[in-house]
Amino acid sequence: MNQHLLFDRIDEPGLNTIPVYEKRGGYGAMRRALAMPPAAIIEEIKQSSLRGRGGAGFQMGQKASFLPQGEMAKYLVCNADESEPGTFKDRELMQKCPHMLIEGIVITTFGTGIHHAFIYIRGEYQLQAQILEAAIAEAEAAGYLGENILGSGHSLKLVLHRGAGAYICGEETGLLDSLEGKRGNPRLKPPFPAIEGLYAGPTLVNNVETLSTVPTIINMGGAEYAKIGTEGSAGTKLISVSGDVQRPGNYEIELGIPSREIIYGLCGGPRPGREVKMWFPGGSSSPVLLAEDLDLPYDFDTLAKAGSMLGSGAIIVVDDSHSALEVARKVTKFYSHESCGKCVPCREGTNWTHKMFARIESGEATPMDLDIVASVQNQIMGNCLCVLGDAMAMPIASIVAKFRAELEAEIEAARERANALPLATLPQAIPVGAH
Ligand code: SF4
Repeated sequence: MNQHLLFDRIDEPGLNTIPVYEKRGGYGAMRRALAMPPAAIIEEIKQSSLRGRGGAGFQMGQKASFLPQGEMAKYLVCNADESEPGTFKDRELMQKCPHMLIEGIVITTFGTGIHHAFIYIRGEYQLQAQILEAAIAEAEAAGYLGENILGSGHSLKLVLHRGAGAYICGEETGLLDSLEGKRGNPRLKPPFPAIEGLYAGPTLVNNVETLSTVPTIINMGGAEYAKIGTEGSAGTKLISVSGDVQRPGNYEIELGIPSREIIYGLCGGPRPGREVKMWFPGGSSSPVLLAEDLDLPYDFDTLAKAGSMLGSGAIIVVDDSHSALEVARKVTKFYSHESCGKCVPCREGTNWTHKMFARIESGEATPMDLDIVASVQNQIMGNCLCVLGDAMAMPIASIVAKFRAELEAEIEAARERANALPLATLPQAIPVGAH
């Protein structure tokens, strides 16, 4: 059974305002939490087994407990950058129910002894930024933010910061640099943000959906929440489904339901006459799965065992009207453009892979080039400073492995096309090595 916890009546008019949000019990969890010992809040979150909803899937309670105890300048940063292609569920959550996020932030900061919090929202989310600004002002006027919230002794300054539209600012340390006013470059880890993050202070970085789930956990109790979903993947998950399905959009599912139920049941599957060719289960950086994988339960552990990942919960469906080459080329184009250039395997590897696919399209490649592409992905994986290099290498390695025969046929067909053309009209590949 699918429960709606975050998307429950999400389209109710006026839900972005305090009166409507409170009419359905909003800010009740905050009132309850402010009367609890702070450590008990973190304990509830730990018991819920809530795993981060931004991509890495790390347990939120555990992450919060890495922060040093005691009075010091600590920070909470809400990652609202949502830059992974195919992901757009936080956008809907912030737009329609911003107070759920603010309530989650107040509860989490009380539990961790933090008095400064930031929401880092991607530059393109102008409407959502306006809605959040208004919601923060409304919460301040109601006494839910600011000094001595509801007489609890807890004070919190919440600041909204708009990014400028770079994928890499969704990476937590790139985001922190950007928030400090620098170029958004990922940092070397360790030290991890929990020890040395924003302004060199201990910092907890959580995603919008993760923080928005906290009021539900306080209302239900962590142990009850953990009963939803599967043992390793508790709770519900917002998923964004896009690509070749008849009903794309955001859905809330209970973790562990069959992937087929999502792609065919909720989203209507591909258009009539078309079949699922491949699907990205967790955004464009996840290794692709095939139609034969559609019965896999949609949860963190099952997808990892199948060689992919749940990631941000963005399912991108590709039907049999598209070629594997077209998909690979789009993925590499995106990541080569978004590489920050700080480390060699990613800067050179993403750019070079993109040019190799252009070479295949222009008819200049041979099947041996696929071995070179696969070998470059191996050299990128695990050798980069942040996740972006792997974000391209993982899906590309999976496409080359799973669609090798089709790619070889494409190489052959492109060579024949090129040979049939008069020399002056040949399409030009981007020279490998050129920048
Ligand atoms: Fe920059 Fe790519 Fe290295 Fe990440 S992996 S630091 S994006 S060059």
